[in-house]
Amino acid sequence: MKVAVVTAPGEVELRDEPTPDVAPDEVLVEVGACGLCTMERRLFSGEKQIYPVAPGHEVAGRVVAAGSAVAGLSGSPQVGDQVTVDLLTRCGTCRQCRRGRSALCRVPQGGALTDGTISMGAGLAELVRVKAAAAWPVGDASSDHASMGEPLACVAHSVRLSGFRAGDRVAVIGGGYMGRLHQALTRHLGAAEVGVIDVSADRLTDATEAGASWTATPDAAASRVDAADITFVTAGAPGALELAVSLTDDGGTVVLYGAFPKDLTAPVSPDGIHHHELSIVGVYSQEPEDWRTAAGLLTSGALAPDLDRLVTARFGLDAVGDAMALAAGSPVYRVLVGG
Ligand SMILES: [Zn+2]
Ligand SMILES: [Zn+2]
Repeated sequence: MKVAVVTAPGEVELRDEPTPDVAPDEVLVEVGACGLCTMERRLFSGEKQIYPVAPGHEVAGRVVAAGSAVAGLSGSPQVGDQVTVDLLTRCGTCRQCRRGRSALCRVPQGGALTDGTISMGAGLAELVRVKAAAAWPVGDASSDHASMGEPLACVAHSVRLSGFRAGDRVAVIGGGYMGRLHQALTRHLGAAEVGVIDVSADRLTDATEAGASWTATPDAAASRVDAADITFVTAGAPGALELAVSLTDDGGTVVLYGAFPKDLTAPVSPDGIHHHELSIVGVYSQEPEDWRTAAGLLTSGALAPDLDRLVTARFGLDAVGDAMALAAGSPVYRVLVGG
């Protein structure tokens, strides 16, 4: 079977890999689509230099073989099922896993192809082999939608840890792919309103077309004091935390979802947090119960129109280089590869 390997900045090739055998507790999935995430973009652009590497962790497709222990087992994916796949392994035994916080597993992730190439998912491939527990059936959802299972699980995790309840007013800082998934999910769950903040006029137009209650640039949003009960920061530019604190009403929650410069610090007022009962919550990655939520959302089709809007382009596996170049070189929501 073929698998894409990034060998240098701007260089990706398809290598042959033996078809994996499935262990009793595993399934083999024929990849229908794999999304290109930030990591794939960074590897291709040379921002992150780990070569050679087989990336691709946002995978969906159809089960083509099931191991002996899971074949026929109720609740387990079966041959022919459409699934979204969790390629993040967790040890289950470290302190964080035992606390039920497996998103924070202390054991380094990763595997390798047969030739020793580092695998960071290896989902840009014809086939992936996973534990049956990590393949979540999604009914009739398309592979394109189901490949959004991993980011959707991350957003379900973010919304779960935010303490969001129906009727809350939501603000989302960052109108990129992750911001838009927050917009779609909180609106679906009954947000009273969802506003989106971004520096890009194009992204604000797209968010409005997708049903945003209001949009604003960061400068314009500065006047919207106390406009939200929950504010999700999905684009952690300098000033984003301060803006989020000002946007969030008393008793509200600021969720720090991602994309912060590593060395960024921000002043916050401890007395302000105390007096206004503000919560500031960091969220990272996802956990199995978030996958259950994401798979349920995909199966229901509830977010299908939102997910359609987020497919920027689609390429066959043979054109993975073109897909990577597009994703690394221009603002996109999701570029999908496969099939
Ligand atoms: Zn991802
Ligand atoms: Zn662990």
